[in-house]
Amino acid sequence: MEQHGRTVLVTGSTSGIGLAIARRYAALGYDVALNSHAAEADVGDVVESVRQAANGRVRYLRADLADPVESQALAGAAIAAFGRLDILVNNAGIQRVAPVEAFPVADWDRIVAITLDSAFHTTRTALPGMVERGWGRIINIASAHGLRASPFKSAYVATKHAVVGFTKSVALEVAEKGVTVNAICPGYVWTPLVAAQVADQAKVHGLSEDEVIRSIFLGPQPTKAFVQPEEVAELCIYLSGDMARSITGSTISIDGGWTAK
Ligand code: NAD
Repeated sequence: MEQHGRTVLVTGSTSGIGLAIARRYAALGYDVALNSHAAEADVGDVVESVRQAANGRVRYLRADLADPVESQALAGAAIAAFGRLDILVNNAGIQRVAPVEAFPVADWDRIVAITLDSAFHTTRTALPGMVERGWGRIINIASAHGLRASPFKSAYVATKHAVVGFTKSVALEVAEKGVTVNAICPGYVWTPLVAAQVADQAKVHGLSEDEVIRSIFLGPQPTKAFVQPEEVAELCIYLSGDMARSITGSTISIDGGWTAK
């Protein structure tokens, strides 16, 4: 199989989209490094569930991506674990819903660190080996909010737009080196990140929680259905194949038609 022996790091991969991505790579025989800020003992069951269905090696690398030192060390730890890093999926992200004038400064800084700074740190560490071998894939999980805005999500929208810009810039830097760099832009995917914002959305919009799901989450998505994490995972697999070698610097929407409007 074309992917046999290839190694992958998926940041923020103990839950939701990142977990689905890690699971799929592992099942297909890639060597996969999972990551989150949680102690290994607290995510042991999740890691073990990926390992049980894996056809390659699975490692858990704890790193708090809000911490610049740990963030800078993560990709190096993946290289140390597997000897090389062929595919980097920058997926970790958090959300906070609040009006900009009431947006807690600490939350702004945390969102910037986890979403944007960590992608810079992992990329700059992973890239030299990819370039040297003449093959690599960097996939940034941005968002429909990397292309469109919504109110009360200033930090999230700002950093996701920044991730899209970062993706394009790095793609141009390595375009002749066999390394592709792309951003996937999902619409609403039902994960703990989305479930956790129902109450805050209800508060800032003055809606019931049911109305939040119908009008705030599914309102912008013409399909009126949540995207499934497995759909995003399959797109990562496609982008990791050799037939995707000409797709670079792209933003690929998987949003039920949201950004067609
Ligand atoms: P999730 O909350 O289910 O998972 C987030 C993952 O990131 C978890 O594994 C968590 O442990 C990890 N994480 C959080 N803080 C961390 C930190 N400080 N250090 C290391 N890891 C940390 O969220 P999700 O919905 O699966 O989102 C994953 C990515 O997809 C995010 O970047 C998010 O912005 C993006 N996204 C999500 C949606 C959606 O609707 N769910 C839509 C578009 C984009």
